[in-house]
Amino acid sequence: MSVYLYNTKTRSKEEFKPLNEKMVTMYCCGPTVYSYAHIGNLRTYIFEDLIANTLRLAGYKIKHVMNVTDVGHLTNDSDDGEDKMLIAAEREKKSVMEIARHYEDTFFRHTSELGLKRPTIVCRATEHIEDMIKFVKSLEDKGFAYFSNGNVYFDTSKFEKYGCLSGQNREDLKHGARTEQDANKKNASDFVLWFTSSKFENQILQWDSPWGRGYPGWHIECSAMSTKYLGERIDIHCGGIDHIPVHHENEIAQSEAHLGHEWVNFWIHMEFLNTKAGKMSKSTGGKTTIDTLKELGYLPMHYKYFTLTSHYRSAAVFSEEAMDGAKKAYENLCTFVSEFKASTEGKTLLSDETGKVEKLKAEFNAYLFDDIKTPLALSHMWSVVKDNKLSDLIRLNYLMHVDSVLNLELKNVEAKKAQEIEITDEIKELLEQRKEAKATKNWAKSDEIRDKLASLGLGVKDLPNKEVELFKL
Ligand code: AMP
Ligand code: ZN
Repeated sequence: MSVYLYNTKTRSKEEFKPLNEKMVTMYCCGPTVYSYAHIGNLRTYIFEDLIANTLRLAGYKIKHVMNVTDVGHLTNDSDDGEDKMLIAAEREKKSVMEIARHYEDTFFRHTSELGLKRPTIVCRATEHIEDMIKFVKSLEDKGFAYFSNGNVYFDTSKFEKYGCLSGQNREDLKHGARTEQDANKKNASDFVLWFTSSKFENQILQWDSPWGRGYPGWHIECSAMSTKYLGERIDIHCGGIDHIPVHHENEIAQSEAHLGHEWVNFWIHMEFLNTKAGKMSKSTGGKTTIDTLKELGYLPMHYKYFTLTSHYRSAAVFSEEAMDGAKKAYENLCTFVSEFKASTEGKTLLSDETGKVEKLKAEFNAYLFDDIKTPLALSHMWSVVKDNKLSDLIRLNYLMHVDSVLNLELKNVEAKKAQEIEITDEIKELLEQRKEAKATKNWAKSDEIRDKLASLGLGVKDLPNKEVELFKL
């Protein structure tokens, strides 16, 4: 079955056709590790992971690359402001590298708690400086970059397609215009490829380069590392919607100028998680993390469930009420799984049941194959779970399939334990009387005893060896 995904580049939902049948290549802009990823950032990573899982479900193999930005990202995406890593190091009285590793480790702990697969390759900017220098050199040699007062800039006037992703022309994209204009730029939308110490005298991480000692601009790392690990053309590039007008326009400009051809087939962007008060962002104090949620009594899976209830291209609003709803729904789901596991222990699907499970799985998949429609996939899941006409075994097998794609930790849910029943003298006496009644074929009496046991909340079942089993009703 085909997979359809919304492509920002064409502003339409398109059938996904891989460049190479054997391996789909996917690049996702990763975290800037100067503070904890907030749950909005994680919404983006949850959906990126799900896109990869959906493509695996459709039979593709995926090479998923994610960068870790540990240098070069300034407080303003368009090269203005201060270095985010440096501010954090000063604030926390640690070295820049200590800051970077601490937040990177925490990021991967959180993504693992959310059941996200670690990307095939995770690459740190600071470990790819040589690749970036070569990339910038190539742009300079090809006439797309210029050196001005200590820094190397990309000349956006040389790249005709500049603005193609956001559908804006260069004039609209005068990023610099929002803040103080960098007098060294030829055009307001030009951006820095390489800084030398002329920009920040106190920059700690610096490397030698053909333009002097300095450090890379933020955008170049994604182009350099993506090309290194995924080649000259890639299937999918993802990120949050905030990246469209600056970071991704700049990535396209420098990559295509360097490569001389189109670079990415599908650009996929995730809408934002907002709070009732507005945008959730690290820089404006959006500090709700997975650990904050735990302190409030929510599991990472409650948050993941909440995330899946909205489509990745719609903004979602975070609130404790919404989290309470997600928590309840997730707990109900686990209760169903636990009961299905208990009632089906040791059972295997009959052949006609296998066909039914396959049909239900295909229906569920179809929602994901249609641009990752998680709200519809979840509502299909609930309609199956609550359909008492379906055997528990069918429902359990279907749910294990759902879990293999959404990774909601349903496979770890334990079978509900049979509750212990205290056999009182009264119950012992009733069971004796029932045995006698059955031996003398006094069915009226045995029915009467069954009713008495039921009034005590107990059911009784005859076993083949003339033994009986009591169970809670
Ligand atoms: P950063 O670490 O700031 O570079 O952001 C990491 C990822 O999270 C990027 O893909 C951003 O586009 C995305 N992002 C930032 N804020 C939000 C938000 N409130 N909701 C969803 N994604 C976000
Ligand atoms: Zn990027």
